[in-house]
Amino acid sequence: MGQSIFTRAVHAGEGQRLVETPTVGGILPSTTYQSDPDRMDDILGGRISGYTYQRHASPTVHALELAVAELEGQGEALAYASGMAAVHAALLAAGVRSGDTILLAQDIYGASTTLATDVLGPLGVHVVRADLVDLSTARSLLLAHRPRAVLFETISNPLLRLVDGPALTRLAHESGATVLVDNTFATPLLAQPLGYGADMVIHSATKYLGGHGDATLGVVAAGEELAAVLHRQRKLTGATAGPFEAWLVHRGLKTLPLRFFRQCDSARQVALGLEQHGLRVHFPLLPSHPDHARARELFPSGRCGAVVTCDLGAEEARVRRFLRELRLVACATSVGDIYSLCLYPAMASHRSLTVEQRLEIGITEGTVRFSVGIEDPDDILADILRALAASA
Ligand code: PLP
Repeated sequence: MGQSIFTRAVHAGEGQRLVETPTVGGILPSTTYQSDPDRMDDILGGRISGYTYQRHASPTVHALELAVAELEGQGEALAYASGMAAVHAALLAAGVRSGDTILLAQDIYGASTTLATDVLGPLGVHVVRADLVDLSTARSLLLAHRPRAVLFETISNPLLRLVDGPALTRLAHESGATVLVDNTFATPLLAQPLGYGADMVIHSATKYLGGHGDATLGVVAAGEELAAVLHRQRKLTGATAGPFEAWLVHRGLKTLPLRFFRQCDSARQVALGLEQHGLRVHFPLLPSHPDHARARELFPSGRCGAVVTCDLGAEEARVRRFLRELRLVACATSVGDIYSLCLYPAMASHRSLTVEQRLEIGITEGTVRFSVGIEDPDDILADILRALAASA
């Protein structure tokens, strides 16, 4: 007698083995992988690599990880459920524990600061924030605090300050710290911090790597030893990326150079246009930016990211009117999408900081941040200038 409909409904159509190779990698949502028990024992025992359970590893996520490692130029990459999960994982893998100090660049993404102060702080971690663009400040803080880890961004958010990554990494290593670089705004196309000795590189892949505003995911890239620590800890914290998001980001990566280089070039055009309009513009390729000289050194390609920040010199009510008047540029959080976006840091990315903390970094009531998309830069600029006029 044949099997019952209950059994057949469960197993029908499964187990197909492909002879032809698909051109595009698939999305494998399976949470488990069947194998011979001896092989399963070897995989679970860490003697060979393979797949058993999705929280440990899965083929779709691994394909993305291989692709990011390739773009970062060396090391291994691990995908996480979000950029914040990646920041947390990197701090954990750096061995940060009660009694340790961590040194943060003062203008990193607001939630990364708050993760340190509000999640790690109560666990006994001492958090020091400072302007690490200034290497003499960095040197004295490193010597005074001997931090376990130092975290900075290649291009900071939202004022696009540029730390001298190679020099700061050398100083941090001399004081025994592990160096974590958030490379989200630069992408591996403009900076490869593992190459100058950084220990871990973090991406919010939700931004440029994915690029389409439809997947939340984070990545940490590191050398073999730290990658093993990250992998072991990720199995236990469970902050793994899902296969569908990994597939979307992997698809996004294929057009990263096409999108990002165009976005960088358009950002330069938008920045110039806004400055010519008499606005105070933060963009490292403009001579008015405090890190202009460093931009030319660190980014000799003449591209320095696709974010342009602007001080409207206005109070909040006017900024809100401006945001409402935008038609093409969307008033939305995030950066790196193919669509142009405008964010109000005081309301969004940096709302958890006090007014004083924001002013200390240089974020005023009138600061707005544009993430330049792949649309025509003339249209983007026209939309911003029209909204400015209409909200005056
Ligand atoms: N790092 C940077 C520089 C970011 O801009 C963000 C988010 O905006 C994050 C990390 C956190 O990433 P996610 O939103 O994917 O958790």
